[in-house]
Amino acid sequence: MDGCLFCKIINNEISAEKIYEDENVLAFLDINPINVGHTLVIPKNHSDSLLDTPIEDWLSVSEVAYRLAPKIKDAVDADGINIGMNIGAPAGQVIFHTHLHIMPRFSGDGYKLWKGTPYKDEQEIQTVADRIRSKI
Ligand code: AMP
Ligand code: ZN
Repeated sequence: MDGCLFCKIINNEISAEKIYEDENVLAFLDINPINVGHTLVIPKNHSDSLLDTPIEDWLSVSEVAYRLAPKIKDAVDADGINIGMNIGAPAGQVIFHTHLHIMPRFSGDGYKLWKGTPYKDEQEIQTVADRIRSKI
């Protein structure tokens, strides 16, 4: 898509440290990693976010992430991995070309996961579950 940074990386108009490529998927190192080896896995077909990604593209991306994650962990000698995706600006998405983050983690690297807050009562959790079930 015109003007999309990640499409430009796919088309070699902007350079990136590519670590894997096939017909449908590209993986390259994040230029501003949370830790060394932080990798982005993207479908070659442009979509803005997972919400408009064809399921075939998502399955291709997730299969590549499944295969790459242990290799990346091994290569940088990480202790763990976070895999994540920001969908929409309020969730932290900055680049609007679907991408999955593979983020190596090291013991003591200081990153903390978000703190959860329990539902206030049984009724609230049931109401939320009912609203979600009604959409499925
Ligand atoms: P997000 O916040 O989920 O949209 O993440 C976008 C990611 O793209 C960030 O982690 C950036 O560091 C990364 N990024 C931005 N520009 C480039 C680039 N030219 N090459 C590699 N990674 C990039
Ligand atoms: Zn794009």
